Amino acid sequence: MNHQNSESLFERAKRVAPGGVHSPVRGFRGVGGSPVFMERANSAEIFDVDGNSYIDFCMSWGPLLFGHRDPEIEEAVLAALKRGWSYGTAEPYSLEFGELLTSKIPLLERVRFVSSGTEAVMSVIRLARAATGRNKILKFDGCYHGHVDALLVRAGSGLAEMATPDSAGISAQTAADTLVCPLDDEAAFETIMNAHGKEIAAVCIEPLPANNGLLPQSIEFLRKVADITKKNGALLVFDEVISGFRVALGGMTEQTGIKPDVLCFGKIIGGGFPVGAYGGSHEIMKWIAPEGPVYQAGTLSANPVSMCAGLAMLKKALREQPYKRLEEATKSFTAELTYLARDLPFESSMQSEASLFWMVCGKASSTPVRAIGQIPETQKAIYAKVFHACLEEGLYFAPSGYEVGFLSTAHTPQVLDQALSRAKRAFAKVKNS
Ligand SMILES: *Cc1c(COP(=O)(O)O)cnc(C)c1O
Repeated sequence: MNHQNSESLFERAKRVAPGGVHSPVRGFRGVGGSPVFMERANSAEIFDVDGNSYIDFCMSWGPLLFGHRDPEIEEAVLAALKRGWSYGTAEPYSLEFGELLTSKIPLLERVRFVSSGTEAVMSVIRLARAATGRNKILKFDGCYHGHVDALLVRAGSGLAEMATPDSAGISAQTAADTLVCPLDDEAAFETIMNAHGKEIAAVCIEPLPANNGLLPQSIEFLRKVADITKKNGALLVFDEVISGFRVALGGMTEQTGIKPDVLCFGKIIGGGFPVGAYGGSHEIMKWIAPEGPVYQAGTLSANPVSMCAGLAMLKKALREQPYKRLEEATKSFTAELTYLARDLPFESSMQSEASLFWMVCGKASSTPVRAIGQIPETQKAIYAKVFHACLEEGLYFAPSGYEVGFLSTAHTPQVLDQALSRAKRAFAKVKNS
């Protein structure tokens, strides 16, 4: 494959943007080499500026449940555009969308639309602090909640629960208000909650952690987290930005039957346009301005084009109920990939949940891998090889071994068969390299 145009665009891009990109993982640092510049896409296929095409398993990091340029969403967006694209005032589209969400997700009595997942989580932290009169936040190591200062922290090397900033520019003071607990570790969670439970405003978790590999949690662990959180009077926040409308219409909340106090959404909720949302009971959401004292606003919040895209997405998901079909397709696709991967010169395995999947590159210390400490040390190096071999055969996976893959309904059996024959060639190349 020729990537000449991508390479020269990347040289130009580095002169205008940090690292040449507008979100770090796009810079290909996780796999090495130079990013491929994509110029258009359709269904499960994405096309780069050198005329190469790929079967896309990154799917814009999850939002495209029905693939690229789903005709219903496209039509809704074009119709919205023709009416005008931003009013900065009340409009009926977010109302219709809000009514749909609150009627289908029982926990969501009130919802507030924002423009990204990060913004949703950030607002929820402020809300939780106001509603509880407490300052500390607990997160789990290996969960990602967007680039919110308070949650862009990881476990420190010293005291188990102490956080250290996971980015330059986050003050030690901010990090000190966040406690970090390992995933899949009931005892650690109990210990932290016994010591600090009454200072904690919110316990924030991705109920299906999918931003640091796919790290499915046991239902027992999630239930324990929910029980202890509630006993301590902290708010339970389910960050369903990636799992919402992906594992089921009602996300992990529906799958597990657990009732969080607050829910955060992003990705699928905007159908590929910038939308985030958070919500919960009226009791909690009445803290939000203008009903209550917690300020949170947005010039382009509930933008009518984005609202119509999200609404079209959700209506289609409701009508088609694609979840079972997607899960089965993902199961058999990853089983076939596992079979093909037996020829690779290293151990690997596939983890999948609903239509998300992830390749564990190396020997896992435990199956399934449920916590970051269980991810093989070879993850990054091996993934980089597999990634580049697949790219050259026309398969676009996420350019990082810690990101998951997604199936959409556009990944039909024929598309997946084609993907498997490309993977077979790619794996053979890795073997012989
Ligand atoms: C993607 C993601 C976010 C951040 O959303 P953005 O729209 O990128 O700001 C937050 N939480 C989870 C679980 C995510 O997957």
